[in-house]
Amino acid sequence: MRIFYYILYLVILHVSFFCTFPTPSQAKYSGLQTKQLSVLQRKKRAATADQSRLWPNATIPYEFDKGLPKNLKNLLQNAIHHWENKTCIDFVPKLKHHKDYVVFTTESCGCCSSVGKIGGRQTLSLSSYCASESVAIHELGHVVGFWHEHTRPDRDSYITVLWNNIYKDLHKNFFKRNSFEVNSFGRPYDFASIMHYGPRTFSNGKGDTMVAINGEKMSHQSASLSTEDIIQTQLLYQCPEPECEFLISASTRGRITSPYYPSHYTANVDCQWTVVVPEGI
Ligand SMILES: [Zn+2]
Repeated sequence: MRIFYYILYLVILHVSFFCTFPTPSQAKYSGLQTKQLSVLQRKKRAATADQSRLWPNATIPYEFDKGLPKNLKNLLQNAIHHWENKTCIDFVPKLKHHKDYVVFTTESCGCCSSVGKIGGRQTLSLSSYCASESVAIHELGHVVGFWHEHTRPDRDSYITVLWNNIYKDLHKNFFKRNSFEVNSFGRPYDFASIMHYGPRTFSNGKGDTMVAINGEKMSHQSASLSTEDIIQTQLLYQCPEPECEFLISASTRGRITSPYYPSHYTANVDCQWTVVVPEGI
């Protein structure tokens, strides 16, 4: 395959991006008060095996709640760019004719979202104690239709859950889902998924909450979509081949890849990408 890359740097100051994403891990949950923990346990979990939860044309209408602080709005906008750059999912501002849509808000549970489209108005809630771009990308993953990777039906072949190390009220976040709820398209278990908790997420302080069966050290929760996240999104929404003219917008330092990487492109075509980043990166 021969691809020519013509990248126009509109405001780029440095060609090389570096991964400086914050690692969420359990740090984002440490120090939570009992009330906050009890709120977290109400996080809704559902399945993407339910086709009715998919967004038509992979398009998700959204609006920002008026009371949403600017920093959270920025995080969500960056997370939206991340999803749009790497998958065929489109987030569009809600118009009058959109009956099913997501409201980004601080109300309700904080750091939570419904899984997939539930019909009508639904919320994605962020809170100051979980304010990071990686959390925003994770919560958008729920909106797109993803469950937690560590709850998929075959997880016991890859991880052991250490129940005694998890806050009792939060055990349900580790309950395994059945194959009627989850469709992983036969793809491999993915420790690097944005939807996989880190080894100490929701730890009660006694140690790790999950260990890998093969004895490997589990890394912290990912800060960006993994290759498998992208592949599964393509399979879930039957994404078309990526277009060869594409606007890549980045908000933080990182690695540039072709749109929808690792998707294949038609052989012998010329591709033109425009990369836009804020001044100063
Ligand atoms: Zn989650």
